[in-house]
Amino acid sequence: MTLKYVATTCPYCGTGCSFNLVVQDGKVVGTAPYRRSPVNEGKVCPKGTYAHEFVNSPDRLTKPLIKKDGKFVEATWDEAYDLIAQKFKSYKPDEFAALASARVSNEENYLLMKFTRGVMKSRHIDHCARLCHASTVAGLAASFGSGAMTNSIGDIAESKCVFILGSNTFEQHPLIGRRVMQAKKNGAKIIYADPRYTATAKQADLYMPFVSGSDVAILNCMMQEIIKNGWEDKEFIANRTKDYEKLKEVVMKDTYSLENVSKISGIPAESLKTAAEWFGTAESAALLYSMGITQHTVGVDNVRSTANLQMLTGNLGKRGGGVNALRGQNNVQGACDMGALPVVFTGYQKVIDESAHKKFADAWGFPDGICEPKNGYEVTVMMDVLTDNPGELKAMYIMGENPMLSDPDLTHVKHAIESLEFLVVQDIFLTETAELADVVLPAACYAERDGTQTSTERRVQMWRKAQDPPGEAKVDWQIISELAAKMGYADQFPYQSAEEIFDEMAAVTPSYHGMNYERLNRPEALHWPCPAVDHPGTPILHIGKFSHPDGMGVFAPLEWKPPAEVPDAEYPFVLTTGRVLWHWHTGTMTRRSATLDHEVPTGWIEINPEDAQALGIKDKEMIRAITRRGSVDVPARVTRDIMKGVMFMPFHFKECAANVLTNNALDPVAKIPEFKACAVKVEKITEA
Ligand code: SF4
Repeated sequence: MTLKYVATTCPYCGTGCSFNLVVQDGKVVGTAPYRRSPVNEGKVCPKGTYAHEFVNSPDRLTKPLIKKDGKFVEATWDEAYDLIAQKFKSYKPDEFAALASARVSNEENYLLMKFTRGVMKSRHIDHCARLCHASTVAGLAASFGSGAMTNSIGDIAESKCVFILGSNTFEQHPLIGRRVMQAKKNGAKIIYADPRYTATAKQADLYMPFVSGSDVAILNCMMQEIIKNGWEDKEFIANRTKDYEKLKEVVMKDTYSLENVSKISGIPAESLKTAAEWFGTAESAALLYSMGITQHTVGVDNVRSTANLQMLTGNLGKRGGGVNALRGQNNVQGACDMGALPVVFTGYQKVIDESAHKKFADAWGFPDGICEPKNGYEVTVMMDVLTDNPGELKAMYIMGENPMLSDPDLTHVKHAIESLEFLVVQDIFLTETAELADVVLPAACYAERDGTQTSTERRVQMWRKAQDPPGEAKVDWQIISELAAKMGYADQFPYQSAEEIFDEMAAVTPSYHGMNYERLNRPEALHWPCPAVDHPGTPILHIGKFSHPDGMGVFAPLEWKPPAEVPDAEYPFVLTTGRVLWHWHTGTMTRRSATLDHEVPTGWIEINPEDAQALGIKDKEMIRAITRRGSVDVPARVTRDIMKGVMFMPFHFKECAANVLTNNALDPVAKIPEFKACAVKVEKITEA
């Protein structure tokens, strides 16, 4: 028996914990602590502990599949590549779209972006950041000039006040929650606002339950109190920001008084006052947010409002402060950095910028050029185009994403995907989306590849191969390269290793210029921006100046707007959705992990006891949840943990899929859907 330990990075949340994969006779059999990581110092949450369990699942895809007469038939790689190449070549550039993945490596996202823009010459590439933090990228870029978490994870422990808004940090980013607890132990006040009394709420010094969708009103109110009491950082505002008077004009309105915002949000005025005082007078105050802020039709406004608060209080460019946007998936930050977005190449170099466009065209050397210098479609817009404008988009290549469970209004998504002429899905399991494909390509999982991923704190870390992929499965970069070669572009995809791809990417990406595998192959790795090989990386952004050309931060005067769909007589409750500690997104990996699946085997809908009593609903009773998009039968969980008038569903479970119900109304700038608030009614199920 041979046993070895391979240190790698967790494939689940954006925290970026490291652990060892335990390998016995060439197979991954367990995990063990890796104590040298400064992120998690040897500790992991349940998902990390059992991250080996799905790796050798009997459900893994092991051979390419081609659909014939409605059924999948096993095929050789050559048969699959020949069919895909022949079909892809038959489409005009903008009839093709690709979805990259927050679950695969930087190298593979870079390569699918290059394939889409270089081989297919299409403008349309996006990925699931559209569903989680597209508003962060757009909002923080507008406020600060850079759309990423400003501080580092370890830094949170040094804060004197932590305000968590729209993030169940202790369940969704548990090892970041650990830093919040360290701050608390050091005397910090913890403020938490959320419609649910979550694990995070239990640790807070001040818990503020609020009606989903009132974030801008709450933040404006806190800023009004801070200004009224003279707690704003006058020097920071004067020296480092623009448009303060415009902000002040809005936030000082009577609309945002304690009394009025208490009515809008449901938070007692006294709590709002206390939150403003604790936050405004702390020596350093960190703001943490996640999808409770971003997944709204006002997602960009919400994000910019958090930036306003931190500029007002001078909590940027310093330890213990920051706008800490907690990115969801392991590599959602990296997929954005790699240009898997419809408006940018790597490092947020704009597609419409002619010099950036020429730079990439020259570097890649496609003899027949690349896509036009025009923005493409976001994934949410792709789905609308497919249903509303048949024939405009005809083919799609989806790598490691499962929109058939993750996207809003699943009936609409199914209609959209079934409208495609040709769909290729590359994944590790036959997902709900893969079932609709014409060709399925079997991919390697995180434990079977080398590569890098970029965590929420912009730390670029290594994945290290621990075992071979099952059967004929291949790593994604190899599949993309071989397909490109079949289509006549072998010279542009000559790679023999992930490292070669990383070096090519770093050469065209200023924020990654100074990185290479030798520098990354150590526990602390590097935070971007890292512009030169002798640069130490940048754990804290915006020290001394912001990333805008003039170095100034920009305040945004923002009025509160309600969600696109609010309760009415027919649909009298607010439905909000989210995740649970034990599962990950569409459950493809965690529901195949026996331990995690045993803990939480199915979904539910949370209902406040007063609402349940009025409706005659009992705990665990199967009920029907109905919105304007559809209905789902789901067990009721009657609990005081959810505020009256609001209901909550986790979205991991296909048998009671929350996203059948959610609203696909979009933020006008970021095109992110409003997962966090729609109108719902529930009914008892009566036998026909
Ligand atoms: Fe993995 Fe996130 Fe848990 Fe860390 S906190 S072990 S990165 S799921």
